[in-house]
Amino acid sequence: MSAGTLIVDAEFESRVRRAEPMSRHTSWHVGGPAELYFSPRDRADLLAFLATLPEGTPLFWLGLGSNLLVRDGGIRGVVVDTQSGLTRLERINDTTLTCEAGVPCARLARQCIKWGLAPAEFLAGIPGTLGGALFMNAGAFGGETWPRVRSVDVCDARGNERRRPAGDYQYGYRHIVPPAQGEYFLAAALEFEYRPGVTEEAMRELLLRRKETQPIGEWSCGSTFTNPPGDHAARLIEAAGLKGTRIGDIMVSPKHANFLVNIEAATAADVERLVALIQQEVQRKFGVQLIPEFRTVGETL
Ligand SMILES: Cc1cc2nc3c(=O)[nH]c(=O)nc-3n(C[C@H](O)[C@H](O)[C@H](O)COP(=O)(O)OP(=O)(O)OC[C@H]3O[C@@H](n4cnc5c(N)ncnc54)[C@H](O)[C@@H]3O)c2cc1C
Repeated sequence: MSAGTLIVDAEFESRVRRAEPMSRHTSWHVGGPAELYFSPRDRADLLAFLATLPEGTPLFWLGLGSNLLVRDGGIRGVVVDTQSGLTRLERINDTTLTCEAGVPCARLARQCIKWGLAPAEFLAGIPGTLGGALFMNAGAFGGETWPRVRSVDVCDARGNERRRPAGDYQYGYRHIVPPAQGEYFLAAALEFEYRPGVTEEAMRELLLRRKETQPIGEWSCGSTFTNPPGDHAARLIEAAGLKGTRIGDIMVSPKHANFLVNIEAATAADVERLVALIQQEVQRKFGVQLIPEFRTVGETL
């Protein structure tokens, strides 16, 4: 991919980064360069930037990169870094708040606890943004993102905004079906119950439970595969004898078989090879097709 081919408006030229290594922006610490990387100051700045882009410019919206494999050849077009500028979080009334897409789920969870709103503790251990949680219908410990959503503010690639009711979206286990393609989340109105009993301590307990069973702190994308109906991906991978299997610097975690950890310098090609090997072995031994939970983007080298 050649850097420097995409022209942006003079007003923004000094503020975009070209050939930005995506390995700096993904929890796997893997990924080639983004052709152009933009960190908006706020929502208005983002919409103004989008309106100046040449029609048809490829766009990729990035949260905290915690569910993302960027291939080694990088991403063509523009990467929008939502967590830099979409950071507002406000209470609207007793039970409702608005939260911009770049707000980390952990901040949202902590703030809900301070406001006496529940159930939001499940969001505490999800190391992504609200935007990523909306896109993935992220969830944990029985809680899910979309049951809390009342409406979302979205925009298209040209920066045109609109508000959609939650009912415009279908959602299921770690996926949503949006009503239209080419729309991105700017913010959401979320409704909780007023339940001031939930404490920071309860939240810390959930975080501790994760720490005991998952390789938290190591470079991964969390669960690699969704759980097949009635079973657990981790159980199948372990039963296939794959715990500890390594290709290059990517390894099936000895602590939790559904986590693939980057030991130091894994490439996206290594990750894709290990993912394919696991799928092949689990299919061969148990006849189960494992589906990746993470998103893969970008070009191969
Ligand atoms: C240690 C660890 C533990 C994890 N535990 C959990 C868990 O318990 N439950 C769970 O559900 N997930 C878990 N995950 C996965 C991940 O944190 C979630 O999927 C999270 O919601 C991704 O958010 P993100 O901001 O990092 O999104 P990214 O990884 O940056 O992006 C993911 C996808 O969302 C899209 N996206 C991001 N923001 C927007 C936006 N504003 N508008 C439109 N599209 C957007 C991106 O384009 C991309 O396709 C874990 C990950 C790690 C590393």
